[in-house]
Amino acid sequence: MNTEELIALSEQCIMHTYRRFPIVLVKGSGARVWDSEGKEYLDFVAGIAVCSLGHAHPKVVDAIQKQVELLTHVSNLYYIEPQIHLAGLLVEHSFADKAFFCNSGAEANEAAIKLARKYAHDSIEGNRYEIITMEDSFHGRTLATVTATGQEKFQAGFDPLPAGFRYVPFNDISAVERAVSEHTCAIMVEPIQGEGGIKVPDDGYLQSLRSLCDERDLLLIFDEVQVGMGRTGTLFAYEKSGITPDIMTLAKALGNGYPVGAMLASDTVASAFGPGNHATTFGGNPLGMSACLAVMDTLLNDGILEHCRSMSTYFFDRLGALAERHAEICGVRGEGLIAGLELTCPGDEIVWKAMEKGLLINCTSGNILRFVPPLVITEDEVDQAINIMDEVIGS
Ligand code: PLP
Repeated sequence: MNTEELIALSEQCIMHTYRRFPIVLVKGSGARVWDSEGKEYLDFVAGIAVCSLGHAHPKVVDAIQKQVELLTHVSNLYYIEPQIHLAGLLVEHSFADKAFFCNSGAEANEAAIKLARKYAHDSIEGNRYEIITMEDSFHGRTLATVTATGQEKFQAGFDPLPAGFRYVPFNDISAVERAVSEHTCAIMVEPIQGEGGIKVPDDGYLQSLRSLCDERDLLLIFDEVQVGMGRTGTLFAYEKSGITPDIMTLAKALGNGYPVGAMLASDTVASAFGPGNHATTFGGNPLGMSACLAVMDTLLNDGILEHCRSMSTYFFDRLGALAERHAEICGVRGEGLIAGLELTCPGDEIVWKAMEKGLLINCTSGNILRFVPPLVITEDEVDQAINIMDEVIGS
């Protein structure tokens, strides 16, 4: 089938839940992907912060190939060796004591919401079930996580939404203090808002949330689905804040493209989940866990975090210079290798033009260009991307 036929069949047979660009991506290697016509692109979308080690990373490919021949899936009725090793590694390198594995970011957040409610139900006095989340947050598309998501556009048409969520502006600690009630059990926040426009917390904000949670007996949940697993230059985004959450969720880059999610928690909180309280058939299956083990091994032992930090400096220098050359750019923000360029105009046209010139980027919140390249990008690849941006902005 040629590209036109593939797209026609897609339009005919696949539900129209995505607005898609008219290309079919068929192959990837490192920071590059190719479409069905053989055109090459520099991929600064990376599956939206998923393929952090680049496409077809040899260690991940090898791990998946070996595991698929050995054992693809068994039920969680039995112990699963790669799952045990991955949990051990995640626990060793984070604040957490226990992990639960699932298949996506939304599922990880759904698990976090359930765990927070169950913990409050079992261990905290009163009727506590409410979770405070942030305006412009994004936590997923299941009914509970889309309700946790503080953006009405994602909720429209799905009423009645589950009860028990309150929204406050991001970066406003007094608003959170005012929102805490006798029903509050947790505060849920992205350490950097991704879909909401690459919004970085003000100094002291995350620390103040921690203090508030301690004072009011609330759980602090960090959604690190987009910014965890090395994206900010440390293994987990919370590390830079000097505080730890009680629950953290991961997905996206955890499997470098193999769909997995994880919800991690301290022992005290995790103890609220017993057999039968939560489960998923595919969660923690041997194949996915082996992919994640290869990702963890690479992140921890192949200098990826150090590379991310040095490329971050290089990339943000270039983005800063780009902003100085183009009046359409009114803000540059981000951390590590998640960057947002705020525009004075809608970003869609620039995304299209960049794609035509061989650079994949995306636009979030209407006017924020988002760059989440693989953490393995080179200076040369950053230069190529910036050159294309120079050509397309204002053209
Ligand atoms: N949480 C955050 C911060 C995200 O960015 C996303 C997806 O973009 C999700 C949760 C939902 O993850 P998934 O699409 O894997 O369900």
